[in-house]
Amino acid sequence: MADESVDLGRRGFLRGQRRSDPAPLRPPWSRTERFTDLCTRCGACADACPEGIIRRGDGGFPEIDFQRGECSFCAACAEACPEPVFDRAAAHPWTLMARIGPSCLAIKRVVCRSCRDACPESAIRFALAPGGVAVPTVEDVSCTGCGACLAACPADAVTLHPGPETVHAP
Ligand code: SF4
Ligand code: SF4
Ligand code: SF4
Repeated sequence: MADESVDLGRRGFLRGQRRSDPAPLRPPWSRTERFTDLCTRCGACADACPEGIIRRGDGGFPEIDFQRGECSFCAACAEACPEPVFDRAAAHPWTLMARIGPSCLAIKRVVCRSCRDACPESAIRFALAPGGVAVPTVEDVSCTGCGACLAACPADAVTLHPGPETVHAP
């Protein structure tokens, strides 16, 4: 999946969205490369999302907002869409994965494990770094890009980035 990422003009990489990448984050399984051609902006996907994480973005097109919650991959958005926007046969809902930036409190030697506690996949591990401070790392093969860690982070240190299609576990 090439370009599911982010809407940047807002607050940092989507708090999940990078300022360097203008592409908004589309719902899982969506054909991102043809999204604005296929989507009629009817809002059915947003109305169907039980997590409330799909909002109307630029031009009225739906975008994921991880500040509102995480994706459970329930596929309600895909099932509600009356247009050929979604590809449920895709190998993965998306290739997003979490990254932890330098504003992380643990990196600054402040005790925090909020991201690890929020992760439903146990994809965030803490390991001792030089100096004896435990800092988080994300296991790419376990991370589903659900976004649960993003809102949980008190330091806005978590961002989501598209990764290679082959990284995610089946
Ligand atoms: S898969 Fe479910 S939780 Fe995720 S964006 Fe779609 S409707 Fe919302
Ligand atoms: S929740 Fe944020 S600040 Fe806390 S350890 Fe995780 S990335 Fe660092
Ligand atoms: S995006 Fe989801 S699976 Fe990945 S590290 Fe964050 S909480 Fe865990």
